[in-house]
Amino acid sequence: MTQYDYDLFVIGAGSGGVRAARVAAGHGVRVAIAENRYLGGTCVNVGCVPKKLFVYASHFSEDFIAASEFGWSAKNPEFQWSHLMAQKNKEIERLQGIYGGLLDNSGVTLIDGAASVVDAHTVSVGEQQFSCERILIATGSWPSIPDIPGKESIASSNEMFALSDLPKRILIVGGGYIAVEFAGIMHGLGVETTLCYRGEKLLRGFDEDIRGFIAQEMRKKGINILFKTNIKSIKQQNNCFTAVTEQNDELESDLVLYATGRTPNISSLGLEALGVSLKSNGAIKINQQYQTNIPSIYALGDVTDRFTLTPVATAEAMALVNGLYSELPTEVDYDNIPTAVFSQPNIGTVGLSETEARNRHTDIDIYKSVFTPMKHTFSGLDEKTMMKMVVRQSTDQVLGIHMVGPDAGEIIQGMAVAIRAGATKAVFDSTIGIHPTAAEEFVTMRKPIDMIPS
Ligand SMILES: Cc1cc2nc3c(=O)[nH]c(=O)nc-3n(C[C@H](O)[C@H](O)[C@H](O)COP(=O)(O)OP(=O)(O)OC[C@H]3O[C@@H](n4cnc5c(N)ncnc54)[C@H](O)[C@@H]3O)c2cc1C
Repeated sequence: MTQYDYDLFVIGAGSGGVRAARVAAGHGVRVAIAENRYLGGTCVNVGCVPKKLFVYASHFSEDFIAASEFGWSAKNPEFQWSHLMAQKNKEIERLQGIYGGLLDNSGVTLIDGAASVVDAHTVSVGEQQFSCERILIATGSWPSIPDIPGKESIASSNEMFALSDLPKRILIVGGGYIAVEFAGIMHGLGVETTLCYRGEKLLRGFDEDIRGFIAQEMRKKGINILFKTNIKSIKQQNNCFTAVTEQNDELESDLVLYATGRTPNISSLGLEALGVSLKSNGAIKINQQYQTNIPSIYALGDVTDRFTLTPVATAEAMALVNGLYSELPTEVDYDNIPTAVFSQPNIGTVGLSETEARNRHTDIDIYKSVFTPMKHTFSGLDEKTMMKMVVRQSTDQVLGIHMVGPDAGEIIQGMAVAIRAGATKAVFDSTIGIHPTAAEEFVTMRKPIDMIPS
């Protein structure tokens, strides 16, 4: 008989926690998982899933315009926010049910409530205490809003998924992917949209060409982007918000959304008292085995603030659980993680940006193509696609692939396999294209635009 109530106690039933719990249970481990808010976590409830549904919804405004050039007449299409919200809520309920079913079927005990860590082998939820051999913290992250006057009237991405009405005008503050995606969503749904960012370019960390190109395309669609603009206070009068910039300009809107970063979700866990090592922003420090400085306590996903993406959290969960409970340990390779921004148009990216590649190597070739996608030569919409490859001359290896254009996320997922397999430019060149597609451009770009001799 084991001395513990459970072998593994998981805190947080989001992307990472659910995967870890059910895979561990599949290995015959006795698992409990505590969740205090919603099954499926951020991704299912206030992240990837509802966000992508909103992106689809918002794209129709352009599709209706394009449709007329293809011979369709859709007279006065109207959008109903309440219908979209009801459909979105229904879908999320369905997904929550699936998550519940997965846990149930794999024999995981689901405990409803906020958990905290009492000691290295004890978790409490409400009045109950559970002993466990190992504890896994997968509590994700939470939007952080700066401490400025009027902060109580500011919405975060969480509230955007629960709005009862669409505003007429919105001010979005931030330059990361959540701000950029919501700017596209709101604009597409007919909301007058201003995106305001303190930096000089959107999407820090992405390839510089992508950063410039996406701002240009968003502006062409009618999104007002203000760079080098910092908000110092927000005033609310009735339903109107006035954001005052550091230059004392006033920006009026009916809703202010801040997408200015997220903080690891550790507030009620009691980790400081226990002496768990944390980074300055509260992120839990872990070693390569996802273990904290207290050997029986593990952490993964957003709460460790490393690569805050759903597929990374689930991959980490698999690696941890297989490492602990199976004969076939797996490892997460953090190089070449592909990612997409569901901006309009989409961004897809994998591997090194041009700047990163040039910092590492002196012999870099850049292949780049900017063109009007076939659909838009016909639709009359002024939207361009950009594709870029970063190649090392001496090895011919493709180090990075970047794209702004329709379905960039779908296209780059395939490119990521090629990059991970170490494909050379010659392999791309000898691959037969699929015609007529935008993606075929990646196998037909022949001339580097910029040669730096090695
Ligand atoms: C608007 C938005 C859009 C996004 N879009 C994408 C995207 O397109 N693609 C992508 O890959 N990623 C996206 N992400 C990021 C993605 O959602 C996260 O990386 C992912 O959810 C992290 O998983 P996790 O398991 O670490 O945490 P989470 O999924 O956040 O799960 C943590 C869970 O722990 C629970 N919890 C917290 N504290 C306690 C406690 N004390 N006791 C019990 N339960 C607790 C929470 O309620 C939550 O359910 C997006 C995020 C946001 C906010």
